[in-house]
Amino acid sequence: MSPSAMTGFGAMALGEPLRPLTYPMPQLGEHDVRVSVSHCGVCFTDIHAIDDFYGITTFPFVPGHEIVGYVEALGSEVAGLAEGDRVGIGWQGRSCERCEWCAQGEEQLCQDIAEMGTWERHGGFASSVTVDGRFAFPLPAPMAPEVAAVLMCAGIAVYSPLRTYATESGQHVGILGVGGLGHLAIQFAHALGYEVTALSASPSKELEAAAFGADHFVVTGDRDRMRPIDYAFDLVLCTAHGAIDWEELLMTLRKRGRLVVVGFPDVSMNPTDLVAHELSVTGSFIGSRTAIREMLSFAQDQGVTPRIEQLPMADVNDAIGRLKENRARYRIVLSND
Ligand SMILES: [Zn+2]
Ligand SMILES: [Zn+2]
Repeated sequence: MSPSAMTGFGAMALGEPLRPLTYPMPQLGEHDVRVSVSHCGVCFTDIHAIDDFYGITTFPFVPGHEIVGYVEALGSEVAGLAEGDRVGIGWQGRSCERCEWCAQGEEQLCQDIAEMGTWERHGGFASSVTVDGRFAFPLPAPMAPEVAAVLMCAGIAVYSPLRTYATESGQHVGILGVGGLGHLAIQFAHALGYEVTALSASPSKELEAAAFGADHFVVTGDRDRMRPIDYAFDLVLCTAHGAIDWEELLMTLRKRGRLVVVGFPDVSMNPTDLVAHELSVTGSFIGSRTAIREMLSFAQDQGVTPRIEQLPMADVNDAIGRLKENRARYRIVLSND
């Protein structure tokens, strides 16, 4: 391999398994950093992108956006980072820095967000990635790299809406799904001081949900079991991505309560409860740079720790298979040797 080339695992076409690829190293812009990847988590969004669910994927495509690594080169205008620094990088690798949202410090809403992904030429299932240095975040020193990797996407995806929409401690929050996102949402919601009910279709998740900090656990899909939590929650975070009974879920919200959707499930709602109970349904996407910094330090202080299986980077297709079959407990992180 020449010094100007890099290696990764990518899909050559829609839905194909990933295979080793060699591609030219991107030019380093003045604000850019090149980060050698030590760890990269596997997120359901990677799988959606391989399948072009979002309609923005160009092939060949190297996924991966829960990245931890070391700064190995910096552009002339990068401030606050030095060669050798350990950093985390999430889904967003740059922003336009000009639109109204970037101006407000809400970079995750950048008007050009579709082009701002870390995997835009190319992502973290690779020897290195190149991103804007303003989206490479120094990590708390004691934080394990695999933990930091998962927090960079799954962590911020659930922390940001919990901070934004459940602002008073003691509020009653429902978390639908005790999986990759849900098990982190329960931990963050508990650490933020909310009363937490975990909702899952799997009765077998009860003990683990309690261990993550859930105060209550309810099995979904049974009207009699759900009735006691009618009108119970100020906020429900939907972290599940399978078939969801939306009518049942909306019944758990207080009047004027809010349902926040953080995954990408099929959504189809009957308007009756939505309108009559004056409910809000909100999507939530990753988080701002400020929120990411705050989340990392909060997770370190509170001991929020994702449950992780680790595999070598070369096993990326196994990891994707486990995730697709819902067999990951609860997140998978790949590591380069
Ligand atoms: Zn992700
Ligand atoms: Zn912007």
